[in-house]
Amino acid sequence: MGIAFSGVSALAAPAMAQGPGGGQPAVAFVVHQLKPNVYWIEGGGGNSGVIVGDKGVIVVDAKTSAAGGKELLDDIAKITPKPVTTVILTHSDGDHVNGLASFPTSVKVIAHENNKKEQEAALAAGGRNAPPADHLPSQVISTNKESVKIDGVKLELYHWAPAHTSGDLVVYLPSEKIVFTGDIIATQMADPLIHLAKNGSSEGWITTTKGMVALNADQFVPGHGDLQTKAAIQKRLADTEAKRAKIEDLVAQGKSLDEIRTAVGDPPPVEGRGPGGGGRGPGFASFTQVVYEELTRKGA
Ligand SMILES: [Zn+2]
Repeated sequence: MGIAFSGVSALAAPAMAQGPGGGQPAVAFVVHQLKPNVYWIEGGGGNSGVIVGDKGVIVVDAKTSAAGGKELLDDIAKITPKPVTTVILTHSDGDHVNGLASFPTSVKVIAHENNKKEQEAALAAGGRNAPPADHLPSQVISTNKESVKIDGVKLELYHWAPAHTSGDLVVYLPSEKIVFTGDIIATQMADPLIHLAKNGSSEGWITTTKGMVALNADQFVPGHGDLQTKAAIQKRLADTEAKRAKIEDLVAQGKSLDEIRTAVGDPPPVEGRGPGGGGRGPGFASFTQVVYEELTRKGA
């Protein structure tokens, strides 16, 4: 998820104090412990996971900026003196990647192969949200499931289908029964956020979320928002499947996007979040619009 959504989460997070004059919110990360060796850290963009292994630390997602990445490392140093050896990225959005700028370049960065391609494309395009060039993924995942052992920690990395982006990676700790979902789950919004520009997919989102709830897990750390139960993820999945089916039905009836928005009870589109992410801001298409575009693009 990008900058616009980070703003939303900053406003929603109770730990964020608004700076004087309503300016930049002061960042105060919150460290949550899940197991003796597993934490998640809230604030400064997407949620991060911290898994303490035998000799080193595995981090899931690295915050939005160099300052955020440094704060994350400072928080980890308060948990353990062990060094961060590995970062696993759930997807390529800057609020999960760009904090890598503060990490040593010796750290191994694991990501799905499409994540790396998206970062390379963003680097080539330039701009202030481009990822740090010297921290591109050093190990890419190109299979649907990869079981790895890092620093004595068993992990399973899953990519069932394109969902939030084409380069999503779900991180599962089978011994601890914990899933790091990335932005496939972001709880500040009722509907899934899907980046069509990064070849995400609403159908793939459903496939992926079915895969996540089938895992033997009871704690789900979302990309944004609070820790989720399996029941909460199942409800989100059921709601999304029902909404997608309704949109599909309305598209088949030849309804326009505006008619469909009204029929499914969406709020009117906000400026900057218009068709194709149009408008002036870094907005995102709504779930309804994503499904509409997918179905009409396919000529369904
Ligand atoms: Zn995000």
